Amino acid sequence: MNTPAATPGRALLSLDEALARLAAGSATQVLTATEQVSTFEALGRVLAADVRSALDVPPADNTSMDGYAMRAADVPAAGTVLPVSQRLPAGVVGAPLAPGTAARIFTGAQVPAGADAVVMQEECEAIADEGNASQPLGRVRVRTVPASGQWIRRRGEDVHAGATVLVRGTRLTPQALGLAASVGAGTLQVLRRPRVAVFSTGDELVMPGEALKPGAIYNSNRFTLRGLLQAAGCNVSDFGIVPDRLDATRDALRRAAAHNDLIVTSGGVSVGEEDHLRPAVLAEGRIENWQIAMKPGKPLAFGAVRRGSPEGGAAGEGGEALFVGLPGNPVSSFVTFVLCVSTVLRAMQGLPTGLPRPLPLRAAFDWPRADKRREFLRVRLNEAGELELFDNQSSGVLTSAVWADGLVDNPAGQRIARGDTVRYLPLAELVAR
Ligand code: AMP
Ligand code: MG
Repeated sequence: MNTPAATPGRALLSLDEALARLAAGSATQVLTATEQVSTFEALGRVLAADVRSALDVPPADNTSMDGYAMRAADVPAAGTVLPVSQRLPAGVVGAPLAPGTAARIFTGAQVPAGADAVVMQEECEAIADEGNASQPLGRVRVRTVPASGQWIRRRGEDVHAGATVLVRGTRLTPQALGLAASVGAGTLQVLRRPRVAVFSTGDELVMPGEALKPGAIYNSNRFTLRGLLQAAGCNVSDFGIVPDRLDATRDALRRAAAHNDLIVTSGGVSVGEEDHLRPAVLAEGRIENWQIAMKPGKPLAFGAVRRGSPEGGAAGEGGEALFVGLPGNPVSSFVTFVLCVSTVLRAMQGLPTGLPRPLPLRAAFDWPRADKRREFLRVRLNEAGELELFDNQSSGVLTSAVWADGLVDNPAGQRIARGDTVRYLPLAELVAR
């Protein structure tokens, strides 16, 4: 492995500065093309137009209980008996309520005009009145005195007609899809998915399912990065493993740039003899190799690859594809993706690029040796609501990233003593950001 120290005389880049440069450098590649998709199929997509409601939700006053609808004034005392004048299951619109009567009503049914209260069936007693032809629905004894308005969900209490219920730039969660559906939106206008090519470099890599030759390791980053891209809603083109050779790397970059907005690679991003990404990207476009003051992580490359002939199907915007080269160590690759590649993807989609807000939580561990770099420690929330540390924080130990449910964002030069408040970033918010 080649991880040389920072170029002498050049300070490490702070992560904040790196993220700012990634966001600014992606602004040229903001996606503008949109498509109309079924609300059924829109999970995780980025809304490209506001969703407004043409109707009130709920569209009419309705009952939130099974029971009887009545005028509260018709029940001045507990035990009042009213004739039942109609029966209203959900979906049935009743007649205006005759004064001095009650309507049998079921959850979700519209409250008939004139009624202003519902008494739940547990507080009522049905009186059958068999053989009384003038009372085919019987009568009801109301055991409590109702308050006007009780158990009625008011028309428009969720959404008013004309209101914007979802704003463009929202990533569509399951509950957002439900809200869109509740106002009758059967299709939604969304941004097209980012098209992202991914490949791994490294002659030591073989695919799971193949025999492990001496000197070889299985390619794990291919799975992690592809999964992260899919979870972020990208259309992924997987270019597999590219050999550690300049010509092969250039060729893969050219093919990847032709039809994608972004190229993400792992490995080969240091500046050693076996790291061919820098010369390859330089020959096909432009690249900056950064040393970021973070751990895990540190080497990261950002640039762009020119598109030769933007014939059929080439990603629309701009004459180049963005390029992010991630370090090869599996935890470094994972952490730099969720911090750095996510920033690029979000900038491309016009989403806010800041990191999620960290939660202040107490450490249940000691971290006695402060590092010069900002560290992202793999931790897990315990039953006491405190953070436990995975015992091996090496950037090659992928177990840590599976065991963890979050990262502690620990500033450079900071020791941690048990009981200190630290900054916790839940992985659930970082993955699929
Ligand atoms: P590199 O950045 O190419 O110097 O690689 C750094 C370390 O990460 C080396 O130990 C590589 O073997 C390992 N590595 C690189 N790519 C992968 C990968 N796709 N899957 C698992 N480990 C990798
Ligand atoms: Mg390598």
